Amino acid sequence: MHFTKRAILKLAVAATFLGAPAAFAQDKGTVGISMPTKSSARWISDGESMVKQFTEAGYATDLQYAEDDIPNQLNQIENMITKGVNVLVIAAIDGTTLSNALENAAASGIKVIAYDRLIRESGDVSYYATFDNFKVGVQQAESLVKGLKERFPDVKPHNVELFGGSPDDNNAFFFYNGAMSVLQPLIDSGDIAIPSGQMGMDVVGTLRWDGAVAQARMDNLLSANYGDKVLHGALSPYDGLSIGILSSLKGVGYGSGDLAMPIVTGQDAEIPSVKSMIAGEQYSTVFKDTRALAGVTVKMVDALLTGSEPEINDTETYDNGVKVVPSYLLEPVSVDASNYEEVLVGSGYYTADQLK
Ligand code: BGC
Repeated sequence: MHFTKRAILKLAVAATFLGAPAAFAQDKGTVGISMPTKSSARWISDGESMVKQFTEAGYATDLQYAEDDIPNQLNQIENMITKGVNVLVIAAIDGTTLSNALENAAASGIKVIAYDRLIRESGDVSYYATFDNFKVGVQQAESLVKGLKERFPDVKPHNVELFGGSPDDNNAFFFYNGAMSVLQPLIDSGDIAIPSGQMGMDVVGTLRWDGAVAQARMDNLLSANYGDKVLHGALSPYDGLSIGILSSLKGVGYGSGDLAMPIVTGQDAEIPSVKSMIAGEQYSTVFKDTRALAGVTVKMVDALLTGSEPEINDTETYDNGVKVVPSYLLEPVSVDASNYEEVLVGSGYYTADQLK
């Protein structure tokens, strides 16, 4: 068979239109993605997973990181609104400061999805995609208790100190309350003691999830309360805090000689913490698969923009002060040295080499 150049061109054009693969069909609209910071690897994974999955679904993306600076995040969101994105996906730095920006979005017909962190005090949030945050706290405390029994079997009480997340992040209260639902009965029964007496999010919170702040607080707790006592555990809600807490502990000799390393929990399965777990320092973390969260979010956006109902599985838990935001909650997974390979490497989240 013989084709002229023109015929070949015609065939190629027809093929493009008939079988146009989704990756090339970036015409379904633009998604503005506002992430809090690149200082923690989890948000980088969230951003990358969303860009990949939105692109595959036929959307263009505008991904911005605000480096934990609230005015910066507000500016980035305002710019996205001005540029005319079709929808906003926001993981807020401070969940209470976005009301005005979201009013502007609503006035331009732009729908908003709260990503991982609830946006509070605004009626202009359509949906919330996140993990079961209370359960994250339960898993952290259960793992702490498991570790205490394992490493310090015949001790009563176990001396523990509590750390909370950033008080401007709604999740921090869910993590803390989830953890206390497990720990409070053990404190009441005398199995666990909090020698500093510091309890409650107003005292144990760590502004902006800052590891250096947690490290300094651990230093102070140790020097003020542990002259003649041994610490057995620290409830830490995030790997970045755990690394700071562990530095403080190592600084006064825990983890060497006959001073066993206290049980330190975490969250996000960040690489330095997984390596620390493998080295026998951090005890555990909670894995939240950012690929799955991105997947839920892409489906929500697609449903919103094509006029169908996004899938949700919770209509009760997340009251943002103005309304209960319909949510999709994913399951967190507790990870320690015994299952990290299966969960983190087995699922393809990390390669074995990344953890060496
Ligand atoms: C997220 C956690 C994260 C923390 C600090 C929370 O809102 O849910 O996964 O550890 O922020 O970035």
